Amino acid sequence: MMAKKIDGKEVAREVRSEVKARVEELRVSHGYTPHLAVILASNDPASNVYVRNKSKAAAEVGIRSTQHTLDPTTSPAELLALIDKLNEDDDVDGILVQLPLPSQHNMGVVLERIDPAKDVDGLHPINAGRLSRGDENCLIPCTPRGTIRLIESVNPKLAGKRAVVLGRSRLVGRPVADLLLNRHATVTVCHSQTVDLADMVRSADILVVAIGRQGYVRGNWVGFGSIVIDVGINRTEDGKLMGDVVFDAAAERAEAITPVPGGVGPMTVAYLLDNTLKAAEGRRR
Ligand code: NAP
Repeated sequence: MMAKKIDGKEVAREVRSEVKARVEELRVSHGYTPHLAVILASNDPASNVYVRNKSKAAAEVGIRSTQHTLDPTTSPAELLALIDKLNEDDDVDGILVQLPLPSQHNMGVVLERIDPAKDVDGLHPINAGRLSRGDENCLIPCTPRGTIRLIESVNPKLAGKRAVVLGRSRLVGRPVADLLLNRHATVTVCHSQTVDLADMVRSADILVVAIGRQGYVRGNWVGFGSIVIDVGINRTEDGKLMGDVVFDAAAERAEAITPVPGGVGPMTVAYLLDNTLKAAEGRRR
């Protein structure tokens, strides 16, 4: 039996339409429309496309967005001054600094400068710390939130499940592990020093792969009947997007699996909108 293909585009549409309805509620109840400020500090063409897509997606659900485009040679002090200004601006609910940053900036310093209440990427240590303490009343990174929603679209009961997460980055692996733990899964986090990775993967009821290595996870590593979420995005020489998991072979064993593209990717933008709304609701409450 082939696995069910989890349709990230469809689930992302559901999330966006929930956000749109709540944006409208906020407008009616408080006369207020959430506002996302996006800072683009590099001239990287991919970043340009991402920022444009985010602004377009925001407009579609009724969220205002403004773009602050800086010259790539902008000094660290100028970027921090812009963040300070946006932190103080009561009309701004969410601040997103598009990564990667030009080399003169220190990413940690920049991300820590954002007011945690406006940190829609959820990367500020205060938000990460709350999440790791089991408190989800904070802003949580978008891709991990999308990952959990996709898992729950297949099976909403995660308690007692054996979950294996490949990757321990602040952006994906760690927050995914926190969210799974908060849902009472038994979580193992693997990384580049993990021994016997294939055995770990085989033991998983829920497998989340976020390592950034095309086709690294073989189909015969995947446990029968598991849910497989492939977060990886790898571009081949001919420009195709591929995941970290060998999709066809894994689909012969899994119960459900995400494709790349069309799996986790669309969820990330949907949860950026949700986080912007959550920030606005939190600040106006
Ligand atoms: P990252 O910061 O480079 O982290 C990669 C993680 O994978 C690290 O923890 C690393 O271990 C681990 N790793 C690397 N090689 C490994 C191996 N052979 N075996 C086991 N673990 C290994 O990457 P990231 O930001 O988390 O992103 C991961 C992937 O997800 C990338 O392909 C990225 O493009 C994609 N992504 C997709 C979305 C989306 O919207 N779909 C969003 C964000 C990221 P160490 O810690 O030991 O180095």
